[in-house]
Amino acid sequence: MDAFEDRFGLHEFLLARGWELDKYSEPDDAGYPTTAEDGWHYPASFAGTAVHDIDDVTPKSLSCRIDYDDELTLIVRAAGNWKGCDEHRVVEHTFPADNLDELHLDDLATLLNTLETQARAADVRVHIDCLFFGACGEYW
Ligand SMILES: [Zn+2]
Repeated sequence: MDAFEDRFGLHEFLLARGWELDKYSEPDDAGYPTTAEDGWHYPASFAGTAVHDIDDVTPKSLSCRIDYDDELTLIVRAAGNWKGCDEHRVVEHTFPADNLDELHLDDLATLLNTLETQARAADVRVHIDCLFFGACGEYW
């Protein structure tokens, strides 16, 4: 089973799947992340629909980052709203590890196969509807 050598290995793995570094990142000349805070997102989320980026409103793309606090953890967040019903809010998946060598490519690929498919099929209008009009099926 393959394992990630480090976050650069994770970076290459994600970019090969169509992911990008987050927009606030300042990559080096080769395009690699330069800080531990840099994360990645999946731009094909919501069928790649372009929407205005409004804090706490715009549904979040499928994303991934490494949390170096307390315990080293790889965090994958499914596409969705920060709050709302179970179907449309962000669901977080974590991979705890003592070091990045323990993050196994096969396990992450299996999860991403599912989450990328869900993210591409997600309808941004349905998510915004859910956010503004309440949890699905509970319109007031
Ligand atoms: Zn909903």
